[in-house]
This record gives sequence, structure tokens and C-alpha cells, in this order.
Amino acid sequence: MTDQTTLSTLERCAEILRRNHFDVVLQPDLAAAGQYLRDEIQRLTPKSISFGDSMTLLATGLIDDLRAGKYPDITFYDGFVAGNPDGKNMERRRQGLLSDLFLTGINAISLEGSLHWLDMIGNRIAPVAFGPKKVILLAGRNKICPTPADAEARIREIAAPKNAARHEGFTTPCIKTGRCMDCRSPQRICNEHLILSRCYPAGRITVVLIDQEAGL
Ligand code: SF4
Repeated sequence: MTDQTTLSTLERCAEILRRNHFDVVLQPDLAAAGQYLRDEIQRLTPKSISFGDSMTLLATGLIDDLRAGKYPDITFYDGFVAGNPDGKNMERRRQGLLSDLFLTGINAISLEGSLHWLDMIGNRIAPVAFGPKKVILLAGRNKICPTPADAEARIREIAAPKNAARHEGFTTPCIKTGRCMDCRSPQRICNEHLILSRCYPAGRITVVLIDQEAGL
């Protein structure tokens, strides 16, 4: 894919998402996307922030900054504290449902203007659908698919098996085969699916399209 083709695909994707009432910004790379998030925090002045697991978001370094206390005036609901030392990760995820600003990634986007996710617990998709006042979603150009069916296939064949594989100790069949076997494993990560066809209210969700491969 040439840069020109990539750019026009991103622009086409942005235009279609805007028609579906999402706000959309294009960023050239992860560093620029991270700076956009930091600028938005300055502009929106949220009192609280939470996030859903996203390798793209983590790669911007913003979550590290929040964990390091670089935003002392903002309550940060971190539902992914390593080792869960106080046993409150799940409670913080619940509190994050009502945060002012929620950040995460997207599993797949269709060029028909729909956004697609799978989730194991629901903490990542529930706040996207409802709760936080503002949601900002990051997506690398590799997440863009022609149709909703292609987006769902991307989840089954790429995103879900790779996500399962990064969970330490998981033994779902897709980790061995590299594709979804629609398992009945207690470790199944594909329990809940979300598809957004439109953004309501208009502009509640901003999609940041990154002209770089990012995430799974
Ligand atoms: S349903 Fe099971 S096999 Fe399929 S991707 Fe999810 S965890 Fe893997």
C-alpha cells in the first residue's frame, strides 16, 4: 500500500465516520496521537479519567504519565494496576464507568462507518457505549477494513487470537492455531461484542485515526 493510498483510505474513513456523527482527527504517528491526547486533556479539563486496555493507547505513554502523577488535579481510575495489590482493580473499572473522559482503542473499523470491538469482561466497551461524558478512541491504520463483515473477521482472525496470546497463562485454542475456534474455554476473551453504527450524542466520541500500524 503506498503512502498516498494509505492517506486516502484514512481520509475516506474519516469522512464516513463524520457522517455517522463521530468527531475524527487524523494524526501521522503515535507520538502525534499522544500529543493530541495531552492537548485534549488541557482543553477539556476533565476531573476524572479512566481507560480500557489498548496497546495503541499504552504506546502513547499517556497512561505512564497518569500513573506517575503528572496530572495531580485529575482523579485517575486505573483498573490495570500490575498485580492488583489492593484487590481494587475491578472496583476502579466500575468507577471508571462514570469518569469525565474515557480512553481506549478499537478492534476494527469498517469503511461503511462502523466501529467494532470484542471484550472479555465489558469494562472496555461499556464506557464507550454510555457513561463517560467524553470518549477518545485511538486506531492505527491497520484497523481499517472494507466492510462490517471484514471488521468482524479481523476480530476473529487477528485481534482476538493475538489478544488471547498476550494473557499470561491463557491456553485458549486460538493461541495454538492463530484463529478463532469459537471456544468454550473459561479463559475465552470473546464474551461481549460492541458495534457502534452512529455516535449519540453527536461528537461524544472522537476517533483518532493514526497513519501508522498500531495495536493488535
Ligand atoms: S472465542 Fe476462544 S478461540 Fe475464539 S478468539 Fe476468542 S478466546 Fe480465541
